[in-house]
Amino acid sequence: MSVGVPVRLRGERTSRTRAAMGGEMPTTGPLVDSFGRIHTDVRISVTDRCNLRCVYCMPEEGMTFLPGDELLRADELVRFAEVVRGLGITSVRITGGEPLVRRGVVDLVARLARVGFEDLALTTNGTALAPVAARLAEAGLHRVNVSCDSLRPERFGQIRRRGDLARVLASMDAAEAAGLSPLKVNVVLVAGVNDDEVLDFAAFARDTGRVVRFIEYMPLDADASWRREQVVPASDVLALVADRWPLDAVAVPDGDPAPATRYRFADGRGEIGVVASVTQPFCGTCNRLRLTAEGSVRNCLFSDDELNVRHVLARGGGDAEIEMLVRRAVWAKRAGHGMDDPGFLRPRRSMSMIGG
Ligand code: SAM
Ligand code: SF4
Repeated sequence: MSVGVPVRLRGERTSRTRAAMGGEMPTTGPLVDSFGRIHTDVRISVTDRCNLRCVYCMPEEGMTFLPGDELLRADELVRFAEVVRGLGITSVRITGGEPLVRRGVVDLVARLARVGFEDLALTTNGTALAPVAARLAEAGLHRVNVSCDSLRPERFGQIRRRGDLARVLASMDAAEAAGLSPLKVNVVLVAGVNDDEVLDFAAFARDTGRVVRFIEYMPLDADASWRREQVVPASDVLALVADRWPLDAVAVPDGDPAPATRYRFADGRGEIGVVASVTQPFCGTCNRLRLTAEGSVRNCLFSDDELNVRHVLARGGGDAEIEMLVRRAVWAKRAGHGMDDPGFLRPRRSMSMIGG
């Protein structure tokens, strides 16, 4: 198929082709794994709870959540953030579950902002964003990603099971008015569910200037009902859009760790991105680690290897102890998520329990 655009997905960048560094884990210097990937980005989950039940994430009924007293407290989250800042983390994304259902989240954002990250962002389903957008911006949040998988009200309700499209669109307006920009819109495509809206979303990006990011459906749904045939390959998305509106790949430095591959409309009207986690994994340049809501440091969405930092934070352990635990978690990172390996097993925890 002619795509009219250089399809610059990044499957070749799998770390299996990299030589492992070998040797001892460094105890000073950048936060590095055994394949030489330097980590500068952390996703902090502030809750595993959510007010929605998106079909690709949670079951409609029966999801169990952590008791409130098992969540890391704000002081512990900030302490963790301070320590990883000292290890070279420059970019933080606050996520969940739905981060805006956590009580005191604006104050928490203000405290994280004071730690001084170059990039402080939050991913939200947008249902509770409008009333707090201005306060989040004042607190020091830089930008938001708002998830929205359909521009058709009825279908939006079917996919997210709760919530209301108009409210989410209004929250995008409020976020922009508050200066939380560039605003990105996360769209998880599921074949046969919303893949007929690719061009509608591309038009939305062109009309609003919002960066629409098409995300491949990953086997991280709590229902474990994911099937490979439900994945809409990013290459198909790009081909479809480029056929209608020519695209130019956005140049990025070699080894750029951003998960989305970016494209501008050739006529200058906006930008889209694709996150091809399934069909073209970008593990080779992954620079991310995660902190789950109850305090496990996790080096990959797909790996069950976790080190729990909660007890160290709770007893007021020293920076060196926290640092060493984070370094060990990162050092243990595998070459790639291995989804195509014959022995691949889904991780025990689903997306909302890890922090997407
Ligand atoms: N509740 C917030 C939201 O929906 O934006 C933040 C947490 S959510 C887990 C983070 C992102 O993960 C969202 O953009 C969501 O659409 C995406 N997501 C959830 N389950 C997914 C799956 N199985 N595959 C791909 N993306 C998924
Ligand atoms: Fe909630 Fe976000 Fe998961 Fe949807 S994707 S159920 S909004 S955590």
